[in-house]
Amino acid sequence: MVVVMQEDASDPQIQHVIDRLVEMGFDVHRSTGASHTVLGAVGVRSDFDPRDIELLEGVREVVRITQPFKLASRHFRPEGTIVDVGKGVRIGGPEVIVAAGPCAVESAEQIQSIAASVAKCGAKILRGGAFKPRSSPYTFQGLGEEGLKLMREAADKNGLLVVSEVMDPSQVQMMLPYVDMLQVGARNMQNYYLLRALGEVKKPVLLKRGMSATIEELLLSAEYIMSGGNYNVVLCERGIRTFETYTRNTLDIAAIPVIKKHSHLPIIADPSHGTGRRDKVPPMARAAVAAGADGLLIEVHSDPEHALSDGAQSLYAEQFAQLMKELRVIAPAVGRNIG
Ligand code: PEP
Ligand code: MN
Repeated sequence: MVVVMQEDASDPQIQHVIDRLVEMGFDVHRSTGASHTVLGAVGVRSDFDPRDIELLEGVREVVRITQPFKLASRHFRPEGTIVDVGKGVRIGGPEVIVAAGPCAVESAEQIQSIAASVAKCGAKILRGGAFKPRSSPYTFQGLGEEGLKLMREAADKNGLLVVSEVMDPSQVQMMLPYVDMLQVGARNMQNYYLLRALGEVKKPVLLKRGMSATIEELLLSAEYIMSGGNYNVVLCERGIRTFETYTRNTLDIAAIPVIKKHSHLPIIADPSHGTGRRDKVPPMARAAVAAGADGLLIEVHSDPEHALSDGAQSLYAEQFAQLMKELRVIAPAVGRNIG
């Protein structure tokens, strides 16, 4: 960490900052320049709060060099991580993995028909919520365990794996037999009890970025899961809330290369929640693959107009088929493939 002092910082002020840093356990190296004194502080503790130094008299700026996350950091595994979801489906390798399905499981017929159509086009994972974190308590909340059963059956019949959202630590054990991957939704990215509970299981976790979360906060949430012993974490960029109103969220495609640089964990993109509009999903899915995403999470419905949730952003089966064809052209251009 580097502490830059103000131009007019007095010697007692500089000495006070040095004393505080030493008290906090840092090894301090002072460099007195013509106009500024700069203090190099080595040995940052993980619980260090830069504001404790920033607020001292005479300090201009504190620049942190080490990252507050360790296990999620690229340094931990420079070669990158491949998360094995089962049945040969590996996220983070050369293949771009597509998870597709409805926003929510609604009925046996609905999930069967969607599973069959997305499997035919090359999706490897069936997505669908059985527990829905809806903004309004008066809207469809999901079928619960019954929905998970229907999803498992539909996936097995069509050679797919299952990813579904877990909202509460109390649901984890019940869900394990039905799912291959546990999804943490945007609204729960900072539910630390849930993250800790997921650190104790072996199944992969799909961790979605909170709608107002920075990339650093996303990686710190991954750190919660990993520090419990579960290293099978896949990150998901699903759009953040900005001042823009033409789209439901702003899909932060730049987060993909940024996360690739700072973390070894695979990152997939969700252009459905990222845009909120069906016609915007294919272009953003194509862009995400071009930007290096390890996979996609896409909402597809057999009858989007009558979907119980997120119909407007769900692709028709034919649109999904067309998108998969396009992705098969784009992926090889960036050294990847779609299975
Ligand atoms: C979902 O994927 O079903 C979902 C609810 O997404 P998010 O948590 O990103 O809003
Ligand atoms: Mn949805």
